[in-house]
Amino acid sequence: LPKVAETRELVEAFSEMQYQVHQRQAELEYRALHDGLTALPNRVLLMDHIQHDIALSKRDLRVLSLMIIDLDHFKEINDTLGHTIGDQVLIEVGNRFKACLRDCDTVARLGGDEFAVLLPNTGSQGACKIAEDIIHSLQDKLKINDMQLFVTASIGIAEYPSHAGDAQMLLQHADVAMYQAKQNQAGYALYNPEEDHHSIKRLAILNDFRSAIERLELTLYYQPIIATHTQRVIGCEALLRWFSDKHGEVSPELMIDLAEKTALIGPLTDWVLKTALRQASQWRESGLDLYVSVNLSMQNLREETLVERIRTELAESKLPSELLSLELTESAMMLNPNEVIKILKELDKMGVQLAIDDFGTGFSSLAYLKQLPVDQVKIDKSFIKNLATDIDDQAIVKATLGLAQNLGMLVVVEGVEDAVSWQMLKELSCFSAQGYYFSRALPANEFVDFLHKQNSANQ
Ligand code: C2E
Ligand code: CA
Ligand code: CA
Repeated sequence: LPKVAETRELVEAFSEMQYQVHQRQAELEYRALHDGLTALPNRVLLMDHIQHDIALSKRDLRVLSLMIIDLDHFKEINDTLGHTIGDQVLIEVGNRFKACLRDCDTVARLGGDEFAVLLPNTGSQGACKIAEDIIHSLQDKLKINDMQLFVTASIGIAEYPSHAGDAQMLLQHADVAMYQAKQNQAGYALYNPEEDHHSIKRLAILNDFRSAIERLELTLYYQPIIATHTQRVIGCEALLRWFSDKHGEVSPELMIDLAEKTALIGPLTDWVLKTALRQASQWRESGLDLYVSVNLSMQNLREETLVERIRTELAESKLPSELLSLELTESAMMLNPNEVIKILKELDKMGVQLAIDDFGTGFSSLAYLKQLPVDQVKIDKSFIKNLATDIDDQAIVKATLGLAQNLGMLVVVEGVEDAVSWQMLKELSCFSAQGYYFSRALPANEFVDFLHKQNSANQ
């Protein structure tokens, strides 16, 4: 009898062991196929599902769609609010996506802030509808700790079989479409074969970008800034333009993005500063009293020599320092606050003007902004585009004007495109404005023509 009991124990122990091995195996398998943070399927499992669904679609002559979703400016959330918050944003966003989908759809996390959604039995039209739902689902702010965060996403869609014949191509083409959506700030985009050379083009552009400065293909254009009460031109924003022999006109956003990723941003910013200062100094010598505003990238704030380089360029140009304004986005200012405050204070001491660019799109807090020696707030153009009709935008602009006044900052409004908005802004007594309603950014000589016309009409 004892022997039987012993055997039974052994059998039990063995089956327990087997169970545990099985559990562990399953766990390992799960981990290999899922993302640790969000518990969503990962790239490997997604590919498996795509292949499986493609096989079914082939058999039943059906379509399916794949979406790539990339969060906009997620890096800034991570950089300014920290990884813990960033992680929670990813989890919450994943949940929002899931809530928009059917059980048979797969949401996967591909890594970083990139997600994918596989939609079996769904054509591109249906996928567009779901993309709209997903974008809509992000419109309510995310509540994380006691913060409310607003994130947006760019979505690319590709359909099997019309856009790609296998899983790999489907993924690649959805990615191209996503990039398109991001470039055009369109929310979502459907794969368009004609624009596909884009991704390859990006690489080629990067290659040529390095020598573009030497080949003098880069230029600065200047967009007039108009004072509200006199309607005269008081300054301009210097904006980069690259007319490439090979690639045509390359968007400044793409240039900056490439430059930031390749450490070219330092030399590029130096070139912009030098050119803009020299131009402003020349205008001053010819009797034009103007300030010039130069954009700094978030990466520039990480450069130890930034302040000294600005000091040197200013001295060389002989332009009074108050005629230089430097624009930094809210998120750039939130990056590593103590360091940034130090840099801004030094620039302030030097006498240059400091402006918060794209105000309203970041996450800065009033308490923090109060500590900064900032002279101007530039309200982002997204709030101005529909100012004439959108009461929310009107409320935001009014509130910002009040806030800026309290903090002793001047408000510059960008993106004024129509007379009605301009009339409103005048009534709200904002300080100055720029936008297509007055003029686009112009080459230096055309800028001067514009200035003379504008100013003589408003003596
Ligand atoms: P930003 O600093 O917000 O510059 C304003 C952008 O709005 C410019 O686009 C300008 O052409 C555009 N804009 C002006 N008025 C209107 C309007 O009425 N309606 C609309 N829809 N848009 C208007 P641009 O020149 O394409 O520059 C895009 C961005 O590229 C800039 O945005 C800035 O972030 C970056 N950038 C441009 N030049 C430089 C540079 O020299 N250095 C750095 N770091 N960034 C630059
Ligand atoms: Ca700007
Ligand atoms: Ca801006």
